[in-house]
Amino acid sequence: MPVLTLSDVSAKAASPYEADIAAASGVLHVDLDALAHNYGLICKAAPCAKAAAVVKADAYGLGVAPVSRRLWAEGCRQFFVAEASEGRVLRALLPDATIYVLDGLFPDAAPLFSEYRLQPCLSTLDEVAEWARECHRVGKRLEACLHFDTGLTRLGLTAGEAEMLIGQPQRLDAMAITLVMSHLACGDDAANPQNEAQRLRFDALRARLPFGLDKAPASLANTAGTFLGNTYQYDLLRPGIGLYGGNPFINKANPFRPVVTAQARILQLREADEGTGVGYGADYRIKGHQRLAVLSIGYADGYFRVLSNRDRDHMRGGSVYVAGMIAPVVGRVSMDMLTIDVTHIPKDTIKRGDLAELIGPHIDLDDVGARAGTIGYEILTSLGKRYMRLYQANGTITDGERA
Ligand SMILES: *Cc1c(COP(=O)(O)O)cnc(C)c1O
Repeated sequence: MPVLTLSDVSAKAASPYEADIAAASGVLHVDLDALAHNYGLICKAAPCAKAAAVVKADAYGLGVAPVSRRLWAEGCRQFFVAEASEGRVLRALLPDATIYVLDGLFPDAAPLFSEYRLQPCLSTLDEVAEWARECHRVGKRLEACLHFDTGLTRLGLTAGEAEMLIGQPQRLDAMAITLVMSHLACGDDAANPQNEAQRLRFDALRARLPFGLDKAPASLANTAGTFLGNTYQYDLLRPGIGLYGGNPFINKANPFRPVVTAQARILQLREADEGTGVGYGADYRIKGHQRLAVLSIGYADGYFRVLSNRDRDHMRGGSVYVAGMIAPVVGRVSMDMLTIDVTHIPKDTIKRGDLAELIGPHIDLDDVGARAGTIGYEILTSLGKRYMRLYQANGTITDGERA
C-alpha cells in the first residue's frame, strides 16, 4: 500500500509530531503524493486538454493550502472554487494562478473579484452586465468565464438568455472571456444518453457565439466526464473527486488512488455478556459474550450517526479496520465516540491507544458513503475539524502549513 500508516509515523522517534500524535483522538492523513498521482492520471486520460483542479469546500475537506500548493507544483495552473471568499484565500496561496469562481457574481460583489483577480463564472445576463460595469469602472477588459446551462438546470445561462447574448454581442464588449463552460448532470453514468445530448447542445451553442468565442477555450468535463471520451474533454478539465481518491463513477471501478486515511483511537477495550445493551438507546444487544473497543470518533467528526448498527439492520452499519482485520460498528454512533465488535480479533494484537482506520486503504471511502446512504463527496466534506491533520509529501510526513 502506498499510504504511510500512523504506525510508520510513530515509529520515527525523531518525528516532531510524535507527542501530538500520541495525544490525538483522531488522525487524518492526507497523501499528497497520491493526489499528485491522481492528477497525473487525469492528465494522461486527456493528453490534448489541460487539467484544472476543483478545490471548492477546502479542497473537498482535505485542506486547500497543501492541496493547491502541491497541484501547482505538479503543473496545475487553473483552479475552480465555489465562492469568492475561497478565491481570496487561494489568491494569497497562489499569486499567479487562474482562479474561477463557480457561484458567479452577487450584486455589488464585482469589485472584490477584480481586486483579487478572481474570474466569475457568469451565469445570468445580470451578471454579465455587472461584470461589464466593473470593467468600465476599473478601465480594464477584466477576464471571466461564461457558464451555459445545457441540461443540469442549476447554474448557467438558459437557452433563452444564450439567444439574447448571441443577438446582442455588445453585452460582452467590455470584457475578456477566457473560458466557455457547462456542467454534466449524469457524467458519472457513461450509459446515460443525457451526456451526449448535453455535449451536442454545448457544441451547437459554442458554434454560434460572437467575437470568435466559438474558438474560445471550452470546458465540460468534471472527473467522470473526462472518461467519457475525448469529445467531452475540450480544452480544460475540471476534476475534483478523482484527485481526492473518490470514485467518480456509479458503476465502474475506481481508477484513483486513496488519498485520505482517517483514524480513531481505541479509548477502551471491554467485554460484555449476553443481552447487555450497547450505547444510547441500547439499540444493539450482546449475543453470547463479545469483546468491544470504544473509539474516539463520532458524528461530530463527520462519522455519520446513520452508520450506527441496530440489531434489526445488520447490513447498514459501518465497519473499521483494526489490527489487520475488519470490525463492525455496534450500537449507536455518538457525538465523540463509537463502539466496534472486536471479539474475533486476537487479544494480543489489539490494545488501548491503538489507532483504527475509519476510511483509508482498507475501508473504502465510497463504501462508507454508500452505507451512510450518501456519496464519498459528502463523507470527505464532512470530515470534522478535530482530527490532527498530517500530510504526506514526497514520502515524508509534515503538517498542513509546511506541506
Ligand atoms: C464540483 C464541480 C466539479 C468537480 O466535479 P467532480 O465530480 O468532483 O469531479 C466540476 N465542475 C463544476 C461546475 C462543479 O460544480
